[in-house]
Amino acid sequence: MKKFFTITAAILLLAACGTEEASQKDKPDDDGSAKQEVSRNKQEVEEENKPKDDSTQQEDTSVVPEYKVNQNTFALESIGEANPQVALLTIDDAPDEHALEMAKTLKKLNAPAIFFVNGHFINSPEKEKVIKEIHDLGFIIGNHTYSHSDLTTLPEEKQKEEILSVNEIVEKIIGEKPKFFRAPFGKNTDYSRQLIDDEDMLLMNWTYGYDWEKEYMTGEAISDIMVNTPLLQDGANLLMHDREWTNDGLEKIVEGLRDKGYELLDPILIDTETK
Ligand SMILES: [Zn+2]
Repeated sequence: MKKFFTITAAILLLAACGTEEASQKDKPDDDGSAKQEVSRNKQEVEEENKPKDDSTQQEDTSVVPEYKVNQNTFALESIGEANPQVALLTIDDAPDEHALEMAKTLKKLNAPAIFFVNGHFINSPEKEKVIKEIHDLGFIIGNHTYSHSDLTTLPEEKQKEEILSVNEIVEKIIGEKPKFFRAPFGKNTDYSRQLIDDEDMLLMNWTYGYDWEKEYMTGEAISDIMVNTPLLQDGANLLMHDREWTNDGLEKIVEGLRDKGYELLDPILIDTETK
């Protein structure tokens, strides 16, 4: 988060000094996160010029959303002039065995992502450190419930506990509550939808994913299908998991998507407030 934000801040200042077009041309082109910056406005620049006495608050308030999640398809739609040819990477069921390594791989490739975490994996000081490290590497931590139970089988009180306990655990570790929620198996209830809304979180399912299917449980197979599936389209929301084969195929997935012309969307640019 910090790194992406630092770059964002630099670009914003650059934008403040010239026309929007000029700043686009002058942007560093070697950094995936820098490419995310497309639209600017006066308010944003003013936000940026305020004294930075609270950097956490700044992160949350100074980024103007450039994408929104379609609540029917869960695809990412560009707002205004933002590049529509994007794909969002998400890693669910973290942090089990491979999340930290996956985060380091993505960081090396400058590829942003959301890690959706389960509370039951955050069961030791070591695992708490993993969450902190993934966050510090610049990734967004999302809520994937405590025990990965099917919410449609649980009474409301239990659904509440499954969701809110993870917010508490994550906030204790990184100082902020998750803004994104993804239900186990993508199964939501009217109650959980309302709760997510009340908690100012954004509900997110996905466009496609394959790494739970037997035939894709090798690095080669999963990287091939994630990039070459006919379901890949502008704004695709890609579901992956903390799994050995997905970890193995991750670099090729990132490279393959970029080779096809897709920009990997920085989730900090997603509007989590307008539903
Ligand atoms: Zn899951």
